[in-house]
Amino acid sequence: MATLKAVRGTRDLLPPETALWNYVEATARGVFARYGFGEIRTPIFEDTALFARGVGEETDIVSKEMYTWQDRTRADSDSAQSLTLRPENTAGVVRAYIEHKLADTGMLQKLFYIGPQFRRERPQRGRYRQFWQIGAEVLGPAWSGADSALRDAEVLEMLSTFLNELGVKGWKLEVNSVGSSTDRPKYIAALREALAPVKDKMSADNQRRAETNPLRVLDSKDAGDQEIIDGLPKIADFLDDASKEHFAQVLAALDACGVAYTVNPRLVRGLDYYTRTTFEFTVPDGSGLGTQNALLGGGRYDGLSELLGGPKAPGIGFAIGEDRLILTLQAQEAGAKEQKLDAFVAPMGVERNAAALALAQELRRAGLSVEVGDGSFRLKKSFEAADKLARRMVIVGEDEVSSGILTVKDFSAGDQTKVPRAELADFLRA
Ligand code: AMP
Repeated sequence: MATLKAVRGTRDLLPPETALWNYVEATARGVFARYGFGEIRTPIFEDTALFARGVGEETDIVSKEMYTWQDRTRADSDSAQSLTLRPENTAGVVRAYIEHKLADTGMLQKLFYIGPQFRRERPQRGRYRQFWQIGAEVLGPAWSGADSALRDAEVLEMLSTFLNELGVKGWKLEVNSVGSSTDRPKYIAALREALAPVKDKMSADNQRRAETNPLRVLDSKDAGDQEIIDGLPKIADFLDDASKEHFAQVLAALDACGVAYTVNPRLVRGLDYYTRTTFEFTVPDGSGLGTQNALLGGGRYDGLSELLGGPKAPGIGFAIGEDRLILTLQAQEAGAKEQKLDAFVAPMGVERNAAALALAQELRRAGLSVEVGDGSFRLKKSFEAADKLARRMVIVGEDEVSSGILTVKDFSAGDQTKVPRAELADFLRA
């Protein structure tokens, strides 16, 4: 029979690598808590209409990449509901914000999430069909301060703190402002005009984009087209005064906090509800990601809640690609080092198994991490297993059980010590 394998684009995460995932998630939880964020967990699948409306029918995500199926509401019913595995989490968070009337609190909502997302993309290193995002949304009624430039800067400063605490080296923050929904049509019109005489010289993809969505020409990686793209109009020249002022305030607050950034006039987002600040954090080549070097992205939005039937709720959000963050940490050899257990308890003979397990229980209750061998192991096998897993080995033989004095072998020091049982936990902790 053919063996079954994980589906293409999905993968198993195994120990010891999962320790790194837990370390990243624990660091995120710790940092976000210091900035007043609380966790939200939304369902992994939602009504397809949520993403069609909230992410946009015209996006690649919705038009090509979603896992969608018709789900019968009941086994005996013919009526089917279209459901989709979430391709991102912002739409789900905003739906929950509306559904639970969080606006009625009048308070700014600071919500973070950690979980898998699903997109049918072509798998490659750093790009999977099930991948994890750590993200957050800051949103609320305008009077809660949700549209303040301070929030944008706070989110960016928090992200820089998070990456620094993890030990990510060489990250770069790029920021831009995409203005308001009234600035953008003017800019798009100017782009179309500037593209018209030159687009025939561009790649087939960019010729198509120039027609359908000229903003997308800007983030094209097509090497041959870069010179033309560099010469296109910049959105900064089309911002209204309020958007200019907002962006200036964000940059001033980043300066005050000592967060380094570069303004990238080509950083844009295609959807209408994205307003003002957009940003991306990348890592340098050689960080294990190849061309997929965007660690995280995000931006400010206004109008998303209304699109989903809710009250006005401007906000700002981001999503970190956790898979890419892990690949980066591994390539940079940063993050938590593999931890060995405090002790390996080795019973000498199966008749010592029960005593060994009771000793392990005592040590674990004292807060130590402990593995137990098996009395059927030869001494050499116990030594080898213990050396791989733990810093020290505790031998449980007949003498040890009767005398209450345990023999402890220390692998790094290469010595052996007799320790009374009452002092054992403290000895192993040292
Ligand atoms: P997006 O939701 O497209 O703005 O993506 C936010 C972040 O999620 C990106 O910067 C990537 O780090 C990560 N990401 C997006 N798609 C994938 C994928 N298919 N596999 C792994 N990471 C991804």
